[in-house]
Amino acid sequence: MAHVITEPCVGSKDAGCVDACPVSCIYGKNKDWLQLYIHPSECLDCGACVPVCPVLAIFAESEVWRSATRVVLVSAVPFVASLVWGNARMKSND
Ligand code: SF4
Ligand code: SF4
Repeated sequence: MAHVITEPCVGSKDAGCVDACPVSCIYGKNKDWLQLYIHPSECLDCGACVPVCPVLAIFAESEVWRSATRVVLVSAVPFVASLVWGNARMKSND
């Protein structure tokens, strides 16, 4: 098992995790990639990179669903709010 960098890294990429990793298995700091990546067969699964990430982008492989759920919720809340607000406006125009 390895740790995985997820979507919130995109646009941040501050590379704090690179310095925290004892085996230098996080790649992309000096590349024009959208985010950094952990080499799955080099990662020790130690978790040292997790607490230094300011955007909570790093998860153990078995916990990646937490990041996906957060992304879905963050996207869904404004969408649902706009639907509710749109319906309220339509009713007030009746
Ligand atoms: S610390 Fe987090 S946001 Fe910064 S490069 Fe690493 S994974 Fe991306
Ligand atoms: S879990 Fe440990 S070995 Fe794996 S990327 Fe993070 S700091 Fe490096």
